[in-house]
Amino acid sequence: MEQSLTRLVDELSSSRELPLEDYERLIAGYSPELAAYAAERAVAVRKSVYGTDVFVRGLIEISSYCKNDCRYCGIRASNATAERYRLAPDTIVDCANEGYDLGFRTFVLQGGEDPWFDDERLCDIVRRIKEVHPDCAVTLSMGERSRASYQALFDAGADRYLLRHETATREHYERLHPARMSFDDRMRCLRDLRDIGYAVGCGFMVGSPYQTAAHLAADLKFVERFRPQMCGIGPFVPHHATEFAQKPAGSVALTCFLLSLLRLMQPNLLLPATTALGTLDARGREKGILAGANVVMPNLSPTAVRSMYSLYDNKICTGEESAQCRGCLSTRMLSIGYTVVVDRGDPRAATMAFGGEGTRPDPKEEE
Ligand code: SF4
Repeated sequence: MEQSLTRLVDELSSSRELPLEDYERLIAGYSPELAAYAAERAVAVRKSVYGTDVFVRGLIEISSYCKNDCRYCGIRASNATAERYRLAPDTIVDCANEGYDLGFRTFVLQGGEDPWFDDERLCDIVRRIKEVHPDCAVTLSMGERSRASYQALFDAGADRYLLRHETATREHYERLHPARMSFDDRMRCLRDLRDIGYAVGCGFMVGSPYQTAAHLAADLKFVERFRPQMCGIGPFVPHHATEFAQKPAGSVALTCFLLSLLRLMQPNLLLPATTALGTLDARGREKGILAGANVVMPNLSPTAVRSMYSLYDNKICTGEESAQCRGCLSTRMLSIGYTVVVDRGDPRAATMAFGGEGTRPDPKEEE
């Protein structure tokens, strides 16, 4: 293992930041030994903030309709073979109620960009869930919307918003998305969400088509500067009905290495071990936790629609009932010495023992 690379891991551990070219050196210099070195440090940092607790988010996939056409996505608008559904508001609230009884204290409402879920409908659903479960957080993951829409949803009680930036490099973004989608819009949405007061999650795919080490380094730099509360990363998994059907899937090992680097960069970051990790590797989610992740997202959607929310091929957890899904993940976490807890799962204060939040300037001042 190259000493200069382990020194970069140490430097990231102590300063919480690296120059862009050093992130690229780390990624280009990936080796299992280097990843193990980073994971050991990342797990120590994670344990200093979250112990062995694992937060769960109850994922409710509310619509497989989408007006967008992201080139990698199985439910993009132009895929005529995609099966479409949208959940009725009562069904969504029922899913949350069932989740509450199973110990969930965060519900993630996720869907394609479906205009049927206008502000009025979505605000009403958020209000209904928050009225019955004021001790729970509602996270939305409904894509790009106007600032006024984000504000209305926040005012209705939504606490958090997930919007993956997918890639922080404009030229790469333009190769993954149709011309009518804009990198600037995506970045504008993320800034609006943060300014409004949401806990914000960004994120990116690992191994997406045309991606280079330089692109991933730019993603790490973006996260370092943006300082989101959450960051969802998962390996790219091809979907058979997209133009990327024949492209190779991303690497579980590289994804785990990046999880470790993100943990070292931001000790209290909420980092999910994603379903895509579990799709490519039967123990992918366990590997994600052992690399420094601290969140899992069992599915609370009705089983009748799960297979239709097909962003990529071979997605796991489409057959199990919600209780089975939660039980399965609890067992998996216990098997590696971690415990799924009943908790909203907000970011905890990082201890200064590992450098804490460090002394980086407020991101607003940097822009
Ligand atoms: S990635 Fe999201 S926005 Fe893009 S087509 Fe798929 S569901 Fe729609």
